[in-house]
Amino acid sequence: MNLECPYCEADCGQPDEVYPGMADEEEECPKCGKSFLYDCEYEPLYYARKTPCLNGEPHDYRPIPYSDPPWRRCEACRILEPKVEVEE
Ligand SMILES: [Zn+2]
Ligand SMILES: [Zn+2]
Repeated sequence: MNLECPYCEADCGQPDEVYPGMADEEEECPKCGKSFLYDCEYEPLYYARKTPCLNGEPHDYRPIPYSDPPWRRCEACRILEPKVEVEE
């Protein structure tokens, strides 16, 4: 999102990336020449996905490569479990 000058509402372009809650950054409007500070707020993003294993279906475990001891993780709900070796 581009910065907008708080005085004249001119488009001040893409600001330097700042972390939310960190120190304000100073910017000068290219149109009216006034200095202002800006901060950054991120809106939380949510996304939902199907998790059959939370609805009575078995977990969809996938082995995690290079884990030692071997672990596996469910693709759907992302729980981690030690990989259980099947006894023969
Ligand atoms: Zn301005
Ligand atoms: Zn699961």
